[in-house]
Amino acid sequence: MTAVAHGHHDVLVVGGGAAGLMCALTAGQRGLRVAVVEHANRVGKKILMSGGGRCNFTNTGTSPANYLSANPHYCKSALARYTPWHFIEMVERHRIAWHEKELGQLFCDVSSKLIVKMLLDECDAAGVRIHTSCAIERVSLDDDGRYRLKTTHGDMSAPRLVVACGGLSIPSMGATGFGYELARRFGHEVLPTRAGLVPLTLSGKHLERMDGLSGVSLPVTAHSNGQSFTNAMLVTHRGISGPAILQISSYWQPGDALHLDLLPGEDALEWLQRQQAARPAAELQTVLSEAMPKRFAQRLCEVWLPGRASHRPMRQLDPAQLKAIAGIIGAWPLVASGTEGYRTAEVTLGGVDTDGLSSQTMESRRVPGLYFIGEVVDVTGWLGGYNFQWAWASGHAAGMAA
Ligand SMILES: Cc1cc2nc3c(=O)[nH]c(=O)nc-3n(C[C@H](O)[C@H](O)[C@H](O)COP(=O)(O)OP(=O)(O)OC[C@H]3O[C@@H](n4cnc5c(N)ncnc54)[C@H](O)[C@@H]3O)c2cc1C
Repeated sequence: MTAVAHGHHDVLVVGGGAAGLMCALTAGQRGLRVAVVEHANRVGKKILMSGGGRCNFTNTGTSPANYLSANPHYCKSALARYTPWHFIEMVERHRIAWHEKELGQLFCDVSSKLIVKMLLDECDAAGVRIHTSCAIERVSLDDDGRYRLKTTHGDMSAPRLVVACGGLSIPSMGATGFGYELARRFGHEVLPTRAGLVPLTLSGKHLERMDGLSGVSLPVTAHSNGQSFTNAMLVTHRGISGPAILQISSYWQPGDALHLDLLPGEDALEWLQRQQAARPAAELQTVLSEAMPKRFAQRLCEVWLPGRASHRPMRQLDPAQLKAIAGIIGAWPLVASGTEGYRTAEVTLGGVDTDGLSSQTMESRRVPGLYFIGEVVDVTGWLGGYNFQWAWASGHAAGMAA
């Protein structure tokens, strides 16, 4: 067979990540001739590195409220039609052992490699052709309604083209802006992109104040722009990270207020009043050191609760002082300067505007036969398996429709 002869397909999928593989196997199961074009030397690289190598492949609590998008309704239909339980059914059919870590987050017991193998086995069984290390040199839509790809593996064509190129995060893993370029070329709006689920950086005196605390971790509730997340915060060499910070990073932009409640689940003033009543002779710093890491409590007292308050017995603190201290502990104002950017971000916020897409099929409203799925679309999930669930659900929707 010549390259051109076997280049005729029903569906071409650009990008062999989570969404692309799910779309390909779904369309293949419907009897369609499907090819996946992946420019990296292997498919599913982000799946492999996800969840610390164990892939947090879904979240049993998935709901549209766990996603950011200019149109919060867009993700509803696909998520409702392909739920976490559909994916779990496939995982179990492939005998992949899994466990729930916390908050509905499901991980492989052994390795994320098993998820990639499962998707590849399903693609194989459905007759999907996968081209890795395959660069696309040109994309065109011909008058006969077929999309033509000129690639380093020869020419390929199909009446349906699914763009599943992902976002810009972790360029070293194969991320490119190709999906956005294609969208623009076909007349689609691409909403501004930025790094999400990413550590925040501090600078100047704000970084100096954290000097020596790198590695310290404590539970916080992070608040910004009307959203809040309770989980661990980790102090890093450059700023702050940990799940609570990664989550809030998707809602925060430089210049926005960011407050951290250092006693999550407690009213700070009531907590201080209780401590004062129970332990009137104890110093504030001692009391705080029992509620959070000692080094952190010390620094908090030195920098944010200066004066002699922290070394005074609790009974000497008057109501106004207690209130002021509670204000700091309950809403610790942290001035972050930026984020670590796409280099370490788990996701890309923004992307192909959903206004131009069908929420039922993921097909372009402008150009028939063109589909956008996964992270390239302006739908971004929280930390905790929600991004893969969107990749599976949107991939499935397009795979059923294409
Ligand atoms: C370190 C890390 C850990 C993560 N952990 C989790 C987790 O545990 N749970 C979770 O839900 N989410 C996690 N995510 C997010 C998740 O990986 C993504 O949201 C998801 O992979 C998006 O799927 P996708 O198919 O849209 O894009 P991707 O998986 O990024 O796939 C896009 C594919 O397109 C290919 N491509 C790009 N440009 C071209 C081109 N020009 N030609 C051909 N191919 C191209 C890429 O090489 C890639 O293979 C993590 C992300 C990172 C970076």
